Amino acid sequence: MAALDEAQRIHEQLIAWRRDFHMHPELGLDTERTAGIVAKTLRSLNYEVEEGVAKNGVVGLLKNGEGPVVMGRVDMDALPIQEENIVPYASRLSDRMHACGHDAHTAIGLGIATLMAERRELWRGTLKLVFQPGEEGQNGAELMVREGVLENPRPDAFLALHIWNHLPFGAVAASPGPVMAAAEAWKAVIKGKGGHGAMPEKTMDPIVTAALTISNLQTIVSRNVSALDTAVISVGSVRGGDAFNVIPEFVELRGTVRTYKPEVRDRVLRRLEAVIHGTVQMMGGAAKIELLPMTPALTNDPSVTALVRDVVVDLLGQDALEEVRTMGSEDAAFFLQEIPGCYLFVASGPDDYEDRPHHSATFDIDERAMTNGVAVMVEAFRRLMPDQGRSPDCSPLEGT
Ligand SMILES: [Zn+2]
Ligand SMILES: [Zn+2]
Repeated sequence: MAALDEAQRIHEQLIAWRRDFHMHPELGLDTERTAGIVAKTLRSLNYEVEEGVAKNGVVGLLKNGEGPVVMGRVDMDALPIQEENIVPYASRLSDRMHACGHDAHTAIGLGIATLMAERRELWRGTLKLVFQPGEEGQNGAELMVREGVLENPRPDAFLALHIWNHLPFGAVAASPGPVMAAAEAWKAVIKGKGGHGAMPEKTMDPIVTAALTISNLQTIVSRNVSALDTAVISVGSVRGGDAFNVIPEFVELRGTVRTYKPEVRDRVLRRLEAVIHGTVQMMGGAAKIELLPMTPALTNDPSVTALVRDVVVDLLGQDALEEVRTMGSEDAAFFLQEIPGCYLFVASGPDDYEDRPHHSATFDIDERAMTNGVAVMVEAFRRLMPDQGRSPDCSPLEGT
């Protein structure tokens, strides 16, 4: 297929972009250098470019006649991790590393921009390519939505991807329905009464109370959620006490809740509050709970996803098509809750992929995944914005 050949032709350029970004990782919304290279490259390809959306986000617009507007999004930010890989393109900064693959995403975005600009005769419409900062916990997507990235023009469809080291190179997963979870952060402060470790009867021990609370929280998923539904509650932080012989005043618990369905989310959060308050009250203390919604569930539109699945089979063969669903979260959900689209996973695991998970100091990818990512995205964009004079197929966006 043409798109795969085209992507293979720019493979060296994809590697050069990715390695440059990898050597110069930037955190959160502060992706100034990366955004500068993106904006310059898009301008050289004759895109209309808007900079400074959500601080360092870049939006490139390529207008190519009457037709649908389709938006693509890649993220650009790195993580505060010290890289352990000894490779020529290792991070040049200490405690910063592209350990999730957003360097490859940015390179893929530039690859898509290049091929869509080169072969304008193969599609008609408006391509809106969004390069987003702050995916790793700063909700850059939500900020970009608030700053109007989904308007002028409003997209009819949306595509995004993540390279995926949990699968060996070759596969691509595009699954309809929820594929990533809604995420909430929660914090509970258990207030007790401190005192001497030798005389617990004169205290209200928040440490034992915290232990009971953590145990009781385990009953929510097992007893309050249907076995056919999906939910996770994890406690990620327990803080309290400084001395071996002192019962402290407070213990603070922090954790996360992950769910797919809104009704399950609401039920789990209600039970979380009830279980914490109930356990702490039983022990004679008081609890203060804060819930912080992070991202909604990421749900793929069935018809856009069906088109992407066809693309994967046509380009890479039936065997390449995989299913991935995860309880991880992703702020592209803020785009997908407004615009029908598909978020796909492009397998990027090298031979020793089990030793190279995302967010680890040894993360690295099979760079051929970028070629697959560019090819599938470019072909999907062209099919979503077909040139009616050339293609007998109608875009699924017609009449929506
Ligand atoms: Zn990540
Ligand atoms: Zn990521």
